Amino acid sequence: MVVLKSYEPMKNHLSFACGGYAKFFCEVKNINELIEAIKLAKKLRRKFFVLGKGTNLLCPDEGYNGVVISTRKMQNISLTKYNEKVFVEADAGVDLFKINKLLAELGISGLEWSYGIPGTLGGAIFMNAGAYGHEIFEFVSYVDIYYRGKIKRLKKEKINFSYRNGGLNGKIILSAGLMLTSNKFEAVKEKQLSFMKKRIETQPLNYPNAGSIFKRNEKIIPAQIIDKLGLKGVIIGGAKVSEKHAGFIVNIGNATTKNILDLIDLIQKKVYDATKIKLEPEIKIMK
Ligand SMILES: Cc1cc2nc3c(=O)[nH]c(=O)nc-3n(C[C@H](O)[C@H](O)[C@H](O)COP(=O)(O)OP(=O)(O)OC[C@H]3O[C@@H](n4cnc5c(N)ncnc54)[C@H](O)[C@@H]3O)c2cc1C
Repeated sequence: MVVLKSYEPMKNHLSFACGGYAKFFCEVKNINELIEAIKLAKKLRRKFFVLGKGTNLLCPDEGYNGVVISTRKMQNISLTKYNEKVFVEADAGVDLFKINKLLAELGISGLEWSYGIPGTLGGAIFMNAGAYGHEIFEFVSYVDIYYRGKIKRLKKEKINFSYRNGGLNGKIILSAGLMLTSNKFEAVKEKQLSFMKKRIETQPLNYPNAGSIFKRNEKIIPAQIIDKLGLKGVIIGGAKVSEKHAGFIVNIGNATTKNILDLIDLIQKKVYDATKIKLEPEIKIMK
């Protein structure tokens, strides 16, 4: 059964550790409860927002005047082996650390690059998360969605994904199937740890943040441009351009969402004035 809490501080659910309150909030444990929560929000005539682990997200300081539905307790995952291939089916709320831990234990390759991305599978698919030359849609075979009151299975070929965009706006991701490959435990673990080492060396993981703020492409590497313009260390309120990685903004203490948005704005303006490049934020804002 879905239980709604009221006035839940969103800073407890977002990796940036800031933002206002959700008018209503619930944590669902499975697909049925997720759909029930959406129906409940509609019955209450409230908008709703599906939240993963909040690692790519800001909530306005004024809060969210609707129902926030957290998927992080949806933890079903199953694996089926076909010779060298392994098919993994998992709920939207399963986090990438848990998936990676299981894949290492069972010696299954494919997602090592994602070890250290702190989100859920649903969030990763919605964002088409990627790193070190890979992205999640390379491995997705289908996504089960809830759309216009119906559950539907979308094969990868029918999904219009692109860089950091899963092409599923307006659709609720329930679960997904991924095709991976058998390997040796040691090989998988070693690869995962080498990616994690790179993250620890290059990312400001000791402060609340939400990963890269701006999208990159083959031509534009935002962190390099921001660094060249001398913007590392620039502070607005409690928000600071990381000195360790210029593509990250960190919350150095009591940052408001407005501080972070003002800093994003400032960076965009400085970069545009100097280069005529319009940096596009990767981070989402709850609306
Ligand atoms: C330290 C750090 C490092 C990071 N490194 C990377 C990286 O290397 N590569 C990368 O791509 N990202 C990275 N990120 C960003 C982030 O972790 C990913 O985008 C992640 O996939 C987001 O997942 P989430 O569960 O936190 O989604 P959330 O932040 O909760 O949500 C993001 C968006 O997805 C939507 N969403 C979530 N679940 C569902 C669902 N079930 N159905 C429909 N919509 C849904 C939300 O509504 C929201 O619009 C990093 C973040 C941090 C903090």
